[in-house]
Amino acid sequence: ENRARPWHLLHAIDTVKDELEQRVYWVDQLHQALEGDTFELMVQPIMRLADRSVRHYEVLVRMRNTDQELLMPGRFIPFAEHSGQIVQLDRWVLRAALRLLKRVQADGISLAVNLSGQSLHDDGLTDYLTAELQASGANPHQLILEITETAAVTDFSTARGVLQGIRELGCRTALDDFGVGFSSFHYLGQLPVDYIKIDGSFIRSLTHNDDSRVIVKAIADIAAGFGKEAIAEFVDQEALVPLLQDYRIAFGQGYHLGRPVPVAEAFGHG
Ligand code: C2E
Ligand code: CA
Ligand code: CA
Ligand code: CA
Repeated sequence: ENRARPWHLLHAIDTVKDELEQRVYWVDQLHQALEGDTFELMVQPIMRLADRSVRHYEVLVRMRNTDQELLMPGRFIPFAEHSGQIVQLDRWVLRAALRLLKRVQADGISLAVNLSGQSLHDDGLTDYLTAELQASGANPHQLILEITETAAVTDFSTARGVLQGIRELGCRTALDDFGVGFSSFHYLGQLPVDYIKIDGSFIRSLTHNDDSRVIVKAIADIAAGFGKEAIAEFVDQEALVPLLQDYRIAFGQGYHLGRPVPVAEAFGHG
């Protein structure tokens, strides 16, 4: 009687249509936020575990959408990466972070800024950084740029070039999310980085997962062997601190040590 209807096909078309609509929506939201400067910066301390003093702060971006909601990066960064707008977003954050640094640098504060893998392919990045350092009057020695390890490993020679360029300006560099990617320890010795951040997924499970202990210890040993500092992410309970110190990891970041807070809360109004 009834001919088979291609429901699956109609459904597939609907899904593609939804996805396209979502992408168009986010391109527009990101565009408006870039034009209207409606991104906001949070800062979270990286602490010395021995005495709980601040080593530096990491800058974390939030986006206010047209409904005035403040969105976490997990909501909008994937879309920005898909559309390529992440390059402009990273530049926006860099510029804002340099202005902030100029304001707080006399107090000995350093800031770390995230760069996405795509920003490594932004030919103009070092020129932009040079110009913005000049325009802001920020001290390059108090700026750190974090790139994700996966980006560094997938495009090793580009990553090395960008990191080198950043260092020549006097800034420091770091490898983020270390251990989750296709982490080739061999590369670590060849990349010009000052420290690595051990991915939070290993740290979080340290108290109850023996595999994580083996991995974290190995990463810590190798980092030390290459003369790099290691920072543990996601230090969200006191019980982790002595474990990390056993592995001679001197620095941590996480909710237990200090949550991300708005810039005004950390440093007062400019
Ligand atoms: P990330 O660079 O690995 O930053 C650390 C993330 O872990 C932050 O999430 C921070 O709030 C969160 N975190 C810190 N301590 C804890 C903890 O104890 N427990 C847990 N569960 N989480 C903790 P956030 O702010 O949501 O940022 C997520 C990611 O978005 C960042 O991960 C980074 O990859 C990206 N991101 C943030 N700001 C920027 C930016 O300006 N540019 C680029 N390209 N990416 C950014
Ligand atoms: Ca980071
Ligand atoms: Ca990370
Ligand atoms: Ca991460």
